[in-house]
Amino acid sequence: MKGLMMDFQLTLPTILKRAETYFPHQEIVTRMPDRSFHTYTFADFGKRARQLAVALKGLGLAPGDRVATLCWNHYQHLEAYLGIPCAGYVLHTLNLRLHPNDLGYIATHAGDKVVIVDRSLLPLWEQFKDRTEIEHVFVVEDSYEELLAGANADDYEDPRLDEDTAAAMCYTSGTTGMPKGVLYSHRSTVLHTLGEALASPLGLHVTEKETFLPVVPMFHANAWGYPYTCLMVGAKLVFPGPFLDPETLLDDFEQQGVTITAGVPTIWMGILGMLDKEPARWDLSSLHSMLVGGSAAPRAMIAGFRQRHGKTVVHGWGMTETSPLATASDYVGEFRTADEETQLDVVAMQGLPLPLVELRAIDDDGNEIAWDGEAMGELQVRGPWVAAGYYDTPEQADRWTDDGWFKTGDIASFHPKGYVMIKDRSKDVIKSGGEWISSVDLENALMAHPCIAEAAVIAIPHEKWDERPLAVCVCREGESASPDELREFLAPNFAKFWLPDAYVFVDEIPKTAVGKFRKTALREQFPTAPVTS
Ligand code: ADP
Repeated sequence: MKGLMMDFQLTLPTILKRAETYFPHQEIVTRMPDRSFHTYTFADFGKRARQLAVALKGLGLAPGDRVATLCWNHYQHLEAYLGIPCAGYVLHTLNLRLHPNDLGYIATHAGDKVVIVDRSLLPLWEQFKDRTEIEHVFVVEDSYEELLAGANADDYEDPRLDEDTAAAMCYTSGTTGMPKGVLYSHRSTVLHTLGEALASPLGLHVTEKETFLPVVPMFHANAWGYPYTCLMVGAKLVFPGPFLDPETLLDDFEQQGVTITAGVPTIWMGILGMLDKEPARWDLSSLHSMLVGGSAAPRAMIAGFRQRHGKTVVHGWGMTETSPLATASDYVGEFRTADEETQLDVVAMQGLPLPLVELRAIDDDGNEIAWDGEAMGELQVRGPWVAAGYYDTPEQADRWTDDGWFKTGDIASFHPKGYVMIKDRSKDVIKSGGEWISSVDLENALMAHPCIAEAAVIAIPHEKWDERPLAVCVCREGESASPDELREFLAPNFAKFWLPDAYVFVDEIPKTAVGKFRKTALREQFPTAPVTS
């Protein structure tokens, strides 16, 4: 033994062992493709995850080989989350909402050797399989079961991996460019799990008493790490399968007594709309919090859940590169007793960093910005679960500073108490007459208008000011709003030069594979919108 403490490696087999040893009776429930619920226990799960690890070993793979999944959220996917890394291979979750060309590129770039695929997704797989080097295909509820049946869980042995071995990999969803791969180590995954479990002062109370339903897909940044956290703390897990429509999710919440859930704002907008329409239809007395992240959670939506339905929204920020959870927003300190409006302002910010995560923002002149709620700069982050580089993408090395920070590409301000506020992505920010205008702030304000369901604000070229904001709005069903009305609505809260020059109304805002506004598509659609000033 060297050093002061034991050389205890932080690896995922410790989470698997803990889950099945100390919480054997805890349940994992899945909404199956035929809409029935499948229920089994952590003990059943642990056995099957070990069977998977043993079976994969039998395929003759080399340590570190990639094993991909192309799956919805379900118990077999959870088995892959542990079974693959606990055998020394790398779990690579493929995003089933991507175009087959992107999937072909990603699977090849990652070097995937095996895929576990849902039966319902075979048609998608067929469209890109020839472009990959995948040698083994296992179909859920079919050949995947045969694979497991051929393996004995008791043959599983902890491979005693070095904690810096890769456990999983994800590609960014490509909102602003080609997808880039991030490799997570066993150590970073274990520490992220601990960080999440410790984040209760920031509103995320995942404990053994909770029932957690991740709406966020397991192919989107590891479902934000919650499958691992629930297994470690012994929380009941409920998986929605392929059914992500508001009605089925609300049924899941009610029927499974869900207490915490997590997903992107688009999902919650749909759920809020449904609850507003039929407030008495579901008994949601168990549900207390929803974690919202991936894009800015509109303040009006947070208020809607709190004030009309008594549900707490916890806002989080993160990126594929940060494992992903890096901040969460709850009112701490004096905000705990603040009035409703102040508390809403706090939750509408992206929050404080999780323990062990550090943030700073750097302005155009290379100086760290002040925490004054006004100054904006590019957000930088560092910590034990922040990537040190992209997988096999040397041309992106300049995303890391010489003194060890990752440049997020997000533009942020800091509240005087340290809460970070994401103002934009650097590629989306509007620069008018040399001043930055936050599209996120304008969008949130527009979405607070009673007639507006969704709003995205983009830059359009302007001869004098370089760029000016254009608001692209979707009206609520049966409602309409005029540009003048919207301008008047925004005017009291913004400097005059921030107000959009034009408003256009569309039926739908194009979205990315993980439900974010696809602003690149909007900019193509509106290269030069009617500019009136
Ligand atoms: P992609 O970069 O392809 O969109 P990610 O899922 O990694 O894939 O996206 C991370 C980005 O999402 C962040 O850099 C940020 O711009 C945005 N984001 C995530 N959470 C929030 C949030 N709570 N508020 C605003 N933006 C967010």
